[in-house]
Amino acid sequence: METLVRVPVAPGAPFHLPPRLEGLRRLAYNLWWAWHPRARAMFSRIDAAGWARHRNPVAVLSGQVNWEGLLDSTAFLAEYESILAEFDAYMAGGDDHWFSRRHGKDFDGPIAYFCAEFGFHESLAIYSGGLGILAGDHMKTASDMAVPMVGVGLMYRKGYFRQSIDADGHQEHAYPDFDLRSLPVLRALDRLGEPLTVSVELPGRELAAAVWVAQVGRIPVLLLDTDVPDNDDSDRPITHILYVRGREMRLHQELVLGVGGTRALRALELEPAVWHLNEGHSAFLLAERAREQVAAGASLDDALATVSRNAVFTIHTPVSAGNERFDAELVRRVAGPLLDGDGRPNTGGVSMDRVLGLGLGVEGDHTQFDMTAFSLRLTSNSNAVSQLHGHTANGTWQAIMPREILGLTNGVHTPSWVGQPLREVLERHTTADLDNMDDAQEEGRFWGRLARVPTAELWEAHQRQKLELAIFARGRLRSQFARHGEAPGTLEELENVLDPDVLTIGFARRFATYKRASLLFSDIDRLARLVWDADRPLQVVFAGKAHPADRPGQGVIQDIFAKSRSSKLRGRVFIMEDYDIRIARFLVAGVDVWLNNPRRPLEASGTSGMKASANGVLNVSVLDGWWDEGWTGDNGWAIGGREQNPDEGAQDWADAQDLYRILEQELIPSYYERDENGLPAHWVQLMRNSISSTIWRFSTSRMLHEYVDRMYAPAAINGRTGAA
Ligand SMILES: *Cc1c(COP(=O)(O)O)cnc(C)c1O
Repeated sequence: METLVRVPVAPGAPFHLPPRLEGLRRLAYNLWWAWHPRARAMFSRIDAAGWARHRNPVAVLSGQVNWEGLLDSTAFLAEYESILAEFDAYMAGGDDHWFSRRHGKDFDGPIAYFCAEFGFHESLAIYSGGLGILAGDHMKTASDMAVPMVGVGLMYRKGYFRQSIDADGHQEHAYPDFDLRSLPVLRALDRLGEPLTVSVELPGRELAAAVWVAQVGRIPVLLLDTDVPDNDDSDRPITHILYVRGREMRLHQELVLGVGGTRALRALELEPAVWHLNEGHSAFLLAERAREQVAAGASLDDALATVSRNAVFTIHTPVSAGNERFDAELVRRVAGPLLDGDGRPNTGGVSMDRVLGLGLGVEGDHTQFDMTAFSLRLTSNSNAVSQLHGHTANGTWQAIMPREILGLTNGVHTPSWVGQPLREVLERHTTADLDNMDDAQEEGRFWGRLARVPTAELWEAHQRQKLELAIFARGRLRSQFARHGEAPGTLEELENVLDPDVLTIGFARRFATYKRASLLFSDIDRLARLVWDADRPLQVVFAGKAHPADRPGQGVIQDIFAKSRSSKLRGRVFIMEDYDIRIARFLVAGVDVWLNNPRRPLEASGTSGMKASANGVLNVSVLDGWWDEGWTGDNGWAIGGREQNPDEGAQDWADAQDLYRILEQELIPSYYERDENGLPAHWVQLMRNSISSTIWRFSTSRMLHEYVDRMYAPAAINGRTGAA
C-alpha cells in the first residue's frame, strides 16, 4: 500500500515567533503558499517591505516584524487561524483521493520524479523555463491529488541567471548568490538525525553533495548541493549554475543528479515503485541502479532489464539535435571509475562499452553519448509532451526505438496561473473548485456552466487583471529605463503606457531563433499602422531570456529592443527584462492575446499558451505543440496551416502575412466590437470558449491522471511482477 513520502528535516532559521503564531513556521517552510494567494497576502501583511524585497515567507520571518501590532489585530489573527486550519486540513487529507481509490494497491512505493530544474515560485529560482515550470506544476498537482511522489533535482545556488537589457539592447547576465538560510528549503536528515550528505565518485576524488528538501504541499523535493566544505574549491561550484556551459562540469552535474539523487533516496530508505526521468539529464540514475544490482550479484543483462522495468521517460525535444549529448570519451573518463568498478569492492561493474553502446544516438556517431537514446533504451515506457510531438518524436527515434513513444500532452497547474479576479468569478458562477480539479470536474460538466457567467462580470474580471499587469509593467519599465539614464520626462510618459482599454498582445518565451519573436516586425510600416490606429490601437509586450551561450537569440532581443525604441513603435511596443514566474503570472492573466509563432514542428508543447487560455486570453499561434490539438476553430486563431514549406524564408513570409491578416481582418475588429450594453460580447464569448476548451483538458490534473494510468501504474506493476 502506498503512502505519502515523509522526509525528516533539520529545524529552519532560528527566527523568534510569538507562541500564538508558531504555526507560521510550518506555513513558511511549505511551498503550499506558492499557490495559495491568501497565504502570500498574509505574509505580505506581516512585513510588506520584506515581502516586496524577498517574496518569500522565510525571509519575512527572519527580518524585523512588529509582532505586537499583529497580535493586536483581531482581523489578522482570524485570517491566520483560517489559513492555518486550511493548510493543516490539506496536509492531513488525501486518503480518499482518486489515486488511492483507483491505484493504491498497484504501488508498493512512491514515484521518484527526477528533473534538472523545478519552477515552484519566483523566489526559489532553480528553473529556467518550460521544463522547470512543468516539473513544478507536476509536483503541485501530485500534492493536490495526494499521489505519493518524491522529486529529485539540484539546488542551484546561483540559479539560471538574472537578465538585464542595457541601453543598446544587449542582454547582460548576473549571477546572484542565494542565501539558503532565507529560502524555504531545509536540510534532509539521515538515519542518525544528522544532515544528510551523499557522495559520488569522480576521477581521483569523492564528491560530496548535501541534500536539501523543498516541501511542496505533501510532496518533498530533494535538492542536491555540492557547495559544501568537504569538496575541493574547484568542485564546489558544480551545482551553482543551471545549464552551466562547460561540458565536463555539466556532466558532473548530471552525475550528481542521477547517481547522487539515487543515493539520496537510498539513504532516506525510500524504495520507489517507479522512476520517472523528466528529460534525459538524469539518465545516469539508470546506470547507477544497474551498478547497484551488479554489485549485489546480478548479471549485467538482468540488472539492465530490472532497471528498465519500472523506469519511464519523458522526452521534450522534437529533433535529435536538440537533445543532450556528451563526448563519449569524456563520459568514459569521468563516469568510468564510478560505474565500471575501477577494481574497488562493491562498486559494481557496469562496463563502459555497454553504457556507451546504449547511448548511441540515431546518427550512429560513436564519438557521442546521447542521453535521450540512453533513456529511451533503458526505460519501459516513454512519452512525448503533445500529440504532434509524439508524431515527430516517433519519426526521429524510430531507428532505435523498441516501442512507440506515447503522446501525453502537458498541462498547467490551474490554481497557480489563473488570476484571482477571474477565479472568483468562475467559482461563484460554476461551482467549480480550481483547487480540487479531481476527475469529477471533467470538461463539460462544470465548464459547460461557463455560459452562466454574466458577460459583464467576466469582462470586468479580465479588465482588472489587465490593470494589474499595467501597474506592474509600468513600474518595471520605469526602473529599466531609469537605469538606462532616460530623462525624467521620458520616465513620466511611462506612467500612462499600457492603457487597459487598448488591445494588448503578449509574447513571452525563451528567445531561441526558431521561435521567431521578430515575425510580427516583418513589415514595420504595417505594424506601425496597426499600433497607432486612432480608433482601434494595439500594443505589444515582450519578455524572455536567451541562453548566455545563444548569441543569435541575444541578437533577437537586441533587434526587438531597437524596434521598440524606434520612432515608429515607441510607446506601443515594450520588452520587459528578467522574465520569470512572476512576470509570466502577470502576463498570462493580463493581456488580451497570447502570440506564439515558432517554426513548426520545433515547439514540443509550449505551456504558456495554456496558462493564457485558462485566463480567457486568446491564443494566436502556429499549429505547433499543444495548439495543434488545442485549437477548436472558435477559441483563438491558427497562423498558417499544417503544411511546412521546406524553404524557411518562404514559410516565414507566409506566416507573417497570415498573422497580419488575422490581426487586421478578424482579431482587431472583433476585439473592438461593442454590443448595445457597450460590452465586447463576441470577444467575451471567445474568452468563454477559450477557458472551457482548456481549463481541464490542458491542466496538470488531467495530465497527471494520464501519467498515473498510462505510465506509472503499468511501470509499478511491471516492477512488482517482473513482467517485461
Ligand atoms: C510557462 C512558462 C514557460 C514555458 O512556456 P512556453 O510556452 O513553453 O514558452 C517558460 N517560462 C516561464 C517563466 C513560464 O512561466
